[in-house]
Amino acid sequence: MRIVLLGAPGSGKGTQAQRLIEKYGVPQISTGDLLRAAVAQGTPLGLHAKATMDAGRLVDDATMLGIIRERLDAPDTAAGFILDGFPRTIPQADGLTALLAAIHRPLEAVVLMAVDPDLLFKRLTGRRTCRACGRVFNVFTAPPPTPAPCEGQCVTPDLFQRPDDSEATIGKRLEVYESQTRPLADYYETRHLLARVDADGDIDVVTARLESALAALKQARH
Ligand code: AMP
Repeated sequence: MRIVLLGAPGSGKGTQAQRLIEKYGVPQISTGDLLRAAVAQGTPLGLHAKATMDAGRLVDDATMLGIIRERLDAPDTAAGFILDGFPRTIPQADGLTALLAAIHRPLEAVVLMAVDPDLLFKRLTGRRTCRACGRVFNVFTAPPPTPAPCEGQCVTPDLFQRPDDSEATIGKRLEVYESQTRPLADYYETRHLLARVDADGDIDVVTARLESALAALKQARH
């Protein structure tokens, strides 16, 4: 299963990717997570990317393609992968197509997760992550249990807000999505890889829609 989850920041790509890794047994590759880890570790990549990320802009295509090339080399991607947050530009999509063609592992599906733009703002401003276990909550729509535990791993969720989820940066990120990433829907539609999923609503309901969209694409390929 080699798929891309496409959608605006806050559309639920990460949450749904977590569900799919359990079902399909393939890793989620989140370029945002890879970059945040590099920032936290203070690596050269992290130092290069931090200011760009904090401003809500995109890290350059050459850097991103380098990250993906290296990640797809790892043996755990042999059975497939779920790309979350990559590609985000047409040059990234072209680079990915070429990379996967060279290793004879083309994409099987691209799912566009569609969410009402007014909802996105609320989802992003409300998003909080547990520093200890990485679990993501939303103070408006999915608050952490009170009192804790936060499902198994930590007794007291130690929540923080991503720096780029500040109100000032969210507007920029949504604008960048509209101008640079949304055109990828047409890119993949013309390649007969795209399914659109209504990503408003309950997480389980969206997972069910996603799974039936993937099944329909698979059937259409055969
Ligand atoms: P995300 O967690 O996917 O929202 O990504 C957080 C930030 O990381 C983005 O706002 C960008 O600054 C950077 N980033 C993540 N993925 C990419 C990508 N494919 N291309 C360029 N920048 C990226």
